[in-house]
Amino acid sequence: MPESKRIVVITGGSTGIGRAICLRFAREGAGIIFVHYDPDELKANETLELLDKMDVKARAKKLDVSSFGAVGEFFQEVLREFQRVDVLVNNAGIIRDAFLMRMSEDQWDQALLVNLKGVFNCTKAVIRSMIKERSGRIINISSVVGQIGNVGQYNYAASKAGIIGFTKSVARELATRGITVNAVAPGFINTEMTERLPDKVKETFLAQIPMGRIGEPDEVAETVYWLASASANYITGQVIHVNGGLYT
Ligand code: NAP
Repeated sequence: MPESKRIVVITGGSTGIGRAICLRFAREGAGIIFVHYDPDELKANETLELLDKMDVKARAKKLDVSSFGAVGEFFQEVLREFQRVDVLVNNAGIIRDAFLMRMSEDQWDQALLVNLKGVFNCTKAVIRSMIKERSGRIINISSVVGQIGNVGQYNYAASKAGIIGFTKSVARELATRGITVNAVAPGFINTEMTERLPDKVKETFLAQIPMGRIGEPDEVAETVYWLASASANYITGQVIHVNGGLYT
């Protein structure tokens, strides 16, 4: 399949890293289907407008990735319309931070449901068709926090570490089927998610980054694109760090 003709599904494509990933694949002419969640569809519409200007097939769908049933139905719709999914990027993620003493059951559950169960739901819904095609790329967005931990992010860190275990296991299962499964672990990236953090937390992170700057969404998107390209044919079950040296 020429890279320019591929069908790519990206969760959390309305903004930040997900939007940059949509635009990176669209630059090569791929068909883009992205998922978002906010009922205020402003950001999703902005992404869609950018994609329309690039003259590629583009669809947006409001969907909660943590809903097993809704995700299953969504992928059936996608497969009915496009017949296959060549690349799945599990990017949707949320933070629900609190000190452990104050973290509610609901905060714990929400982060795990969206960040980890969402990856399970989408991956499970797509692999039958990829196995049939004997080809596919699955790229899961983890985080440096899943490897080094972070105060106040117990739920987020657990979900992002869970993604790594999930990625390595699915990579083993699908290795003989022409499907690669990898994770990308961004460090501190310039998006709305990090904009919301208190200045003190931002300064602490920045002080720990050997490159002395935060990363840009495009830098993560480039790595995702490379993992989905023919250059990465023999790479599976890996975690690729995009973090300016924050964790090596
Ligand atoms: P962001 O700007 O907050 O974007 C999150 C995206 O996820 C949005 O498109 C959002 O859609 C979508 N989303 C949220 N809940 C969803 C749900 N239940 N179902 C479907 N979509 C949902 O975040 P970001 O900074 O770009 O982060 C993208 C990914 O990279 C996340 O997995 C994050 O954990 C990871 N990451 C980010 C950083 C960083 O420094 N920014 C570092 C490491 C890892 P709506 O806009 O419609 O709500």
